[in-house]
Amino acid sequence: MIKIAVYGKGGIGKSTTVSNVAAALAEQGLKVLQIGCDPKADSTILLRHGEEVPTVLHMYQEKKQNLKLEDIVKIGYKGIVCVEAGGPTPGLGCAGRGIITALEKLEETGAYEKYQPDVVLYDVLGDVVCGGFSMPMRNGYADKIFIVTSGENMAIHAGANIAMAVENFKNRGYATLGGLILNRRNVPREEEKVKELAEDFHTDIVGTLTRSEVVQQAEEQKKTVLEAFPESEMAEEYRILAKAILMKVREKQEVSNA
Ligand code: ATP
Ligand code: MG
Repeated sequence: MIKIAVYGKGGIGKSTTVSNVAAALAEQGLKVLQIGCDPKADSTILLRHGEEVPTVLHMYQEKKQNLKLEDIVKIGYKGIVCVEAGGPTPGLGCAGRGIITALEKLEETGAYEKYQPDVVLYDVLGDVVCGGFSMPMRNGYADKIFIVTSGENMAIHAGANIAMAVENFKNRGYATLGGLILNRRNVPREEEKVKELAEDFHTDIVGTLTRSEVVQQAEEQKKTVLEAFPESEMAEEYRILAKAILMKVREKQEVSNA
């Protein structure tokens, strides 16, 4: 089982990228579990044609000890297993709590035994990597962290904070940095700035995504690009990214097993 967490600034394109990568991996025949770690609970919406997945936090509050796997898991495009952690009402309590509860409850309800995913994808809001938001990078939940960024200063700044958090956890056997994903906004010196960020953290840009209207057209249809426009160049970019991510994770696994 490969466990990947994708972090990045709010609105940078994490959920879109993760859902399209999930679809690309599922197309290849892999079993994929996507876990939205964002109180907004909209990570998997494109995999379910707009139909919401009830959040783990909400269902747990309602059902407590009677919580069952079926309450918190819904199936999306190409059999992708969709989970949304959820979070408290804004302003009331720590937003990371949903993530902690979700990850615990998924184990307790036997999600991994039942679905036996080949790949687990965590989609994590990463402006602040505190408390629950750092959970996927700790305690063996994810093996590798990928950061989505554009060349915009705020995205780079958030990316650096996330990379620093990963670095700080490194010696405890937690997740390590897999690389950066450049999701273009077409700002000046974009490639150069993201390359600099990669160099600062001794990592690479594993994939580059064009800013494309096709992404929004697919979103209008409440679908991933892979589903709505499977023959498009953008769909191919997501397939290439999915392959690059897998290669990166496997290459590092081989090095650490050697
Ligand atoms: P949040 O932090 O709010 O969860 P996010 O990082 O998950 O946001 P998304 O919801 O995936 O970001 O994307 C934000 C918007 O950017 C969406 O409308 C999406 O369609 C658009 N978008 C993402 N990537 C691209 C791209 N490569 N080209 C064009 N539009 C894109
Ligand atoms: Mg999102």
